Amino acid sequence: MEGFPSLKQIQTLLTGREMYLPDVVADYLQRIEERKELNAFLEVFSDEARSAALRIQDKIDRGTAGRLAGMVIGIKDNICYAGHKVSASSKILDNYTSPFSATVVDRLLEEDAIIIGRLNCDEFAMGASNESSYYGPVRNDADVTKVSGGSSGGAAVAVQARLCHAALGTDTGGSVRQPASFCGVVGLKPTYARVSRHGIISYASSFDQVGPITGSVQDAALLLEVIAGPDKYDSTVSSHAVPAYSDFQHAKGPKKIAYLSEALHSEGLDPEVKAMFERNILNLKAAGHLVEPVSFDLLEYVVPAYYILTMAEASSNLARYDGVHYGYRSAEATDLETTYKRSRSEGFGSEVKRRIVLGTFVLSAGYYDAYYAKAQKVRRLIRDKTDEILAEYDFIMTPTAPAPAFTIGEASDDPVVNYLADIFTVQASLAGIPAISLPSGNNTAGLPLGIQFLGKRFEEGELLSFSKNIEELLRGNLNNVV
Ligand code: GLN
Repeated sequence: MEGFPSLKQIQTLLTGREMYLPDVVADYLQRIEERKELNAFLEVFSDEARSAALRIQDKIDRGTAGRLAGMVIGIKDNICYAGHKVSASSKILDNYTSPFSATVVDRLLEEDAIIIGRLNCDEFAMGASNESSYYGPVRNDADVTKVSGGSSGGAAVAVQARLCHAALGTDTGGSVRQPASFCGVVGLKPTYARVSRHGIISYASSFDQVGPITGSVQDAALLLEVIAGPDKYDSTVSSHAVPAYSDFQHAKGPKKIAYLSEALHSEGLDPEVKAMFERNILNLKAAGHLVEPVSFDLLEYVVPAYYILTMAEASSNLARYDGVHYGYRSAEATDLETTYKRSRSEGFGSEVKRRIVLGTFVLSAGYYDAYYAKAQKVRRLIRDKTDEILAEYDFIMTPTAPAPAFTIGEASDDPVVNYLADIFTVQASLAGIPAISLPSGNNTAGLPLGIQFLGKRFEEGELLSFSKNIEELLRGNLNNVV
C-alpha cells in the first residue's frame, strides 16, 4: 500500500494548481461508488461536496482558505450536521434530520474542510465490529470477509480504502482506536473534556469523546487542533489552552515507556499480536527509549467496570427515544404505553436492548450499591493507579486489540467474550486520558495490527510528538512480525 499523503502535501499541490480540488472530490466520489460493497458510507453528500470544492479552490487561489482547505472528510453517523440525516445506525432514528450541527462539524466547516458523507457505525456506537449497525456490517479493505472493527467502522475503512482523506469518529471505550488498528490507520482518543460533545448522539456521557481517524499522525494532530477547546454549548469541556499540536513542539529525546506485564500474559492474546508487541519493545529500546514492564493488577477489572458504567449511562441517555419526541414510532401503537413499548421494542436492535436492560438493572434501587456505586469506586482505583504509572513514565504501551480483525458473522454469541476484546482500550477511557493507536504492520494473513500509547491527561502534544517520531519505526514492522 502506498503511503498516505498528509494534508500539508496536498495543500502544496492545490496552491500550486498541480492538483485541483474539484478533481480530488470527483475522484473520491468515484471511489466511493466503486467500493460500495465496503458499506462504509450511509450517505454521500455528492452535490454539496462538489460545490464546496469549487468554492474552496477559489479561496485557496486567493490565499484566503482555512487550515483544513483541501481536506475531504467523512463523519460518523452519530455526529449531527444541520439539515442532514443522522441515525446512529439505528432504525429508531432512520430518516431523522438534525436541526443543528455538532460543534466539531462547525469547526471543520469554519476551516474549509469538505464533509463528503456520513459513515456507518455500530448502533448507538455500541460494539466493536460494526455488526450491530441497522445498515449492516462494514467490510475491511484488507480482506472483505473480515470486520472493520467498531464502533467507528465506516470511518476507519473510509480512510483505509481512500474513500476520503480523514474521518471523525467517537470513542467511548475504544471505538476510534480499535477500528483504526484493524484497518491500518491512525486513531486518536483525546483526553475526556478536550473536545466538545455538543451534537454528538450520546452513548455514555462520562466517556464519549470525538477523535480523528487519519492516514498520518500529522493529520490527526491538525484535526485535534481544530476541533479541541472550550464550547459554550458543552460546559464539561476544559478551558485548558489548545496548543498547536501540528507543530510537534515537544523534544525528541528518549522517553520512559511502561508496558503492563499482565497484558502480555492476558488470555486470548493472539500470538502474532504478541510477537508484534514484543518486537516493538525491542525496536523502541534499540532507538534509545527506556521500556519497562510494570504491574497493573487491576487489568481484570477494567472491562467489568467499563460495561457496568457505560450501560448505566446508556440506559439513561437512550430513554429519550420513546416514540413521542422524535424518531421511529410503531404503527401498532394505540396509547401511551404501547407507543413506548412497541416503538422501543421495534426501533432498537438486540445489543442496544441488552445494554438498556442491564443498565437499568445496575441502577435499580436494590442493586445500585452492589454494581453501579462499586464500579464507580473501581473506576477511581483504575484512574489513580494509571496516574501513578504515568507519574513515573511518559507513556503506557499496549497492543490496541488482543487480536486482528475477525471474520464477519464469526463473533461469539456470548457478549462477555466480545466485551473482553476491549481489554486494552477501556483503561484510557475509564481514566479519561488520551490514547492513540498507530499502525504496526500486518500479520502473516495480511491483516493490519495496531499498537496503542496512553499519555497524560491533556498532554496530547507529547503523545502526538512522540507518535510522529516513531511512526515510521512502527510501520517498519510491515510483514515482519513473526
Ligand atoms: N466496544 C466498546 C463498547 O461496545 C466501545 C464502543 C465505543 O467506544 N463506542 O462499548
